[in-house]
Amino acid sequence: MFQKITDFIICPRCKKTELSEEKEQIICPHCKNSIPIRDGILIMPVDSEIKYLQELLDKFVLTNLRPYKDLSEYYLITGMKQKIAKILARYIGEEGRFRIIKLLPNYPQLLTSVDLGGGNGFILKHILNHYSSNKIKNIYGIVIDISLEHLKLATPEIKNDQRLFFINGDAENTFIKEESIDLIISTECLEHIVKRDKLEAYFKEIARILKKKGFLFITTPNRDGFSFKFTEYYFPRIVNLIKYNTFWKKTKEEIDKEKEYQKIKQEAERILSFNEVKYYLQRNKLKIVKLEFNHLLPETVFKLWNEYNPPIFLLEMTIFFSQILRVLFNKIKISQYFGFNQVILAEKVN
Ligand SMILES: [Zn+2]
Repeated sequence: MFQKITDFIICPRCKKTELSEEKEQIICPHCKNSIPIRDGILIMPVDSEIKYLQELLDKFVLTNLRPYKDLSEYYLITGMKQKIAKILARYIGEEGRFRIIKLLPNYPQLLTSVDLGGGNGFILKHILNHYSSNKIKNIYGIVIDISLEHLKLATPEIKNDQRLFFINGDAENTFIKEESIDLIISTECLEHIVKRDKLEAYFKEIARILKKKGFLFITTPNRDGFSFKFTEYYFPRIVNLIKYNTFWKKTKEEIDKEKEYQKIKQEAERILSFNEVKYYLQRNKLKIVKLEFNHLLPETVFKLWNEYNPPIFLLEMTIFFSQILRVLFNKIKISQYFGFNQVILAEKVN
């Protein structure tokens, strides 16, 4: 029998369970609170300031975006050639978000997962598909995102999956039942929590809803990594220096757009070092069981390939070489200073 979203949530007002689902809303029988459902998305109370900033960022990034099934479609939309978009998507997937499949243990039976900042749900869909192909029944996924814009980008295939639920809500205040979740994933979400008290609340909320011995999988940019610094700081500066070169010359409109984007990003993003993440995990009884610093090749490498068309096999060789370096750097524990991303698997301990 399928479970319903009301099996996982509490009333945002009185915090009681056993809510009932009606047409286009969920009703709390205890305090008569009503939670609206719009286009299959449950609308929970959110921090309006964060919502405003994130939607501003999303609107900017997603202006020309159609619903996309996977990362390669995302890169196609950003103007990349199909061949390069596919290779970049595969690289980023393997090095970051989809690495979860390799890091997680096999779940024997029921699995309830939450994706904090899950956007259009494609990662959770990927995970559910992986586990159901391993003959695990009763798997559910709850996608929570503060940006309604982003949730709306779910493709029909994802939207109509009976095992997936969508909540427009706060990662710091999910209104999910205590100790009810086996697996929480949070890929490229943490860096969008700008204020320190919100960060505290975010980790506290994870510890609250996660079952004992449940897992948390986080990927987030790594402030100490050379690959990150190169992409975010050094490369744009180099480009600035040579902007009079015909290839890099930009129109005034493009420069203004980029400036606006950077301004929004500065307000809506805060990149953490590994030690900061570790600090919050430890405070909330989340023990790191697996740790990798990944994604040694900056995206700019792929952008250059896109522009200058060198042979593809050279790019594949570069990726192969960077993956060897990644394994080596992780082994000798210097990868923290190179990888773009930190990929962390933590377990909730008593
Ligand atoms: Zn209530």
